[in-house]
Amino acid sequence: GQKVVLITGCSSGIGLRIAVTLASDEKKRYHVIATMRDLKKKDKLLEAAGDAYGKTLVLLPLDVCSDESVRQCINNVKDRHIDILINNAGVGLLGPLESISIDEMKRVFDTNFFGVVRMIKEVMPDMKKRRSGHIVVMSSVMGLQGVVFNDVYTASKFAMEGFCESMAVQLMKFNIRLSMIEPGPVHTEFETKMMEDVAKMEYPGVDADTVRYFKDVYLPSSIDIFEAMGQTPEDIAKCTKKVIESDSPRFRNLTNSLYTPIVALKYADETGGLSVNTFYNLLFNFGPLMHITMSILKCFTCSCLRRRTISPN
Ligand code: NAD
Repeated sequence: GQKVVLITGCSSGIGLRIAVTLASDEKKRYHVIATMRDLKKKDKLLEAAGDAYGKTLVLLPLDVCSDESVRQCINNVKDRHIDILINNAGVGLLGPLESISIDEMKRVFDTNFFGVVRMIKEVMPDMKKRRSGHIVVMSSVMGLQGVVFNDVYTASKFAMEGFCESMAVQLMKFNIRLSMIEPGPVHTEFETKMMEDVAKMEYPGVDADTVRYFKDVYLPSSIDIFEAMGQTPEDIAKCTKKVIESDSPRFRNLTNSLYTPIVALKYADETGGLSVNTFYNLLFNFGPLMHITMSILKCFTCSCLRRRTISPN
């Protein structure tokens, strides 16, 4: 029969595209429950879903930051039966630490970390009873490697990686699979929203040097990297579909082979020196040429590492 897939954060970006991709499956193998915080934002999804809406795709409201909303949403699913849970909802946070309030940081953790924990807590008991299920988490390469000026966002994704790595062991005993998707940069509103936030920023309490490193060194190279290496939401949706259709899905799934060297650095030197120094050099010495440098790095490591990414095609 059809598999019931529930996806969080479907009003835009990667979540929207995963919902549409699965709902348009030729063999109609999926019954997609596309959820979003605010159903008023459904138009883009419905337009993209076309005929699938009302057939293989339905909508439900869900705010991953609210215990009540999470409970209600799952109670509204027939028999609370979810075969595949895709935790996609997430928010970014960029900028010098001194200019970010603790409340803003908590909001990021409440969405990116506790949002996933809430969903898993609600859905896991039923999966355990049935001895089946697949939980997918949209993490990031920033869940595996720290990135300057993304300190708190990175921390929220690291938190989730640790949580899931721990949960995976117990879940395996119940025949429940857990898979992390680790995209590099993806062209979505995520990027646009962050750039808008940054443009509005006034950097209260931040010294002039830090503001300069952020605005004149980090931002231009980050934009450059997005342009040179960014994937599309379609790419990530195809990778996600591959992961859920695999007979033996891997725990970690990098989607962009250009990022394998970055992750490899960490495992090549457990003291952390290699990653910290490489990032320092990439940012402060190769800034304008960062993406070229990364491509060269990839060439050195790709022969053995490339096979370890999941490709959209
Ligand atoms: P996006 O901003 O288009 O999508 C995020 C979605 O999450 C939005 O629809 C938003 O409304 C929703 N959301 C936020 N808070 C929510 C809440 N409390 N409850 C329910 N929904 C909520 O950005 P995206 O790039 O599609 O991001 C999707 C996921 O991919 C995120 O977890 C993000 O961290 C991750 N990711 C993005 C990139 C990238 O470069 N865009 C890279 C790696 C990982």
